[in-house]
Amino acid sequence: MSRLVLATKNPGKVLEIKEILKHLPIEVVACSAYRGIPDVVEDGETFRDNAVSKARVIARATGEPALADDSGLEVDALCGAPGVHSARFAGGDLPRGRERDRANYEKLLSRLEGVGDAERTARFRCVVALADPSGKVRFAEGVCEGKIAFAPDGCGGFGYDPVFIPLGHTRSFAALPQDVKNAMSHRALALKAALPLIKEFFQL
Ligand code: IMP
Repeated sequence: MSRLVLATKNPGKVLEIKEILKHLPIEVVACSAYRGIPDVVEDGETFRDNAVSKARVIARATGEPALADDSGLEVDALCGAPGVHSARFAGGDLPRGRERDRANYEKLLSRLEGVGDAERTARFRCVVALADPSGKVRFAEGVCEGKIAFAPDGCGGFGYDPVFIPLGHTRSFAALPQDVKNAMSHRALALKAALPLIKEFFQL
């Protein structure tokens, strides 16, 4: 059976991607199943740059096609920031996790002080890259529109979820049920857009 390696060590992303690809006759494995996988430095200027680096490095290291994603939050009142710097918006010192997430969204809320409801528009963007071991890459993108809340709401999810209210809802991603987020998230939409590319690649 053909194999697709996921260029992420995040178990939540691995589950989400496997769920979306589960009906395809391919074996989907996380890169953590391989030994000696190098860490990829995410220092690109765009989501696409970072997704390409991750997919290419993992495809080369494993000798198998690899799928990577990179994502972040774009806030209109901040000219698109934090964007590609979403993970380290409040600084890179804190380890990944709840504390860093809170520091990031608190900085975002303080940067938006005095910004009214109509100007708080934002979106999550995700770019998915599919690389083969020769380095050829295909892309897909997903966007989830919404706005930034005035205060954190809910305790589910991760990252900026407590302060992001998706379009058509009144509660944040952190307050909405997980399956509601998973059906409309930027990552889910990017993966759905990537399905035809994956099918074409594996000639399914
Ligand atoms: P990455 O794609 O894992 O590199 O995500 C970059 C950063 O964007 C994360 O650390 C989060 O801060 C933010 N982010 C990406 N996707 C989401 C999401 O679905 N909810 C909340 N924050 C997210």
